[in-house]
Amino acid sequence: MFEYFFQCPYCWEEISVLLDPSVSQQAYIEDCENCCNPIEITVSFEGGELIFFEAVNIEQ
Ligand SMILES: [Zn+2]
Repeated sequence: MFEYFFQCPYCWEEISVLLDPSVSQQAYIEDCENCCNPIEITVSFEGGELIFFEAVNIEQ
């Protein structure tokens, strides 16, 4: 697994997620571990390398 650190779009705390580099396209909802708001996470891997990461506020 691949641990990625990013800022929560709600509370701006730095949090981390565990990503699976064997799945090339991933999109899912994860609750912030600090403020518990739902974050939509979109990830792309290519050849095991992270090429795209986006974490957005789903209430926008
Ligand atoms: Zn948060």
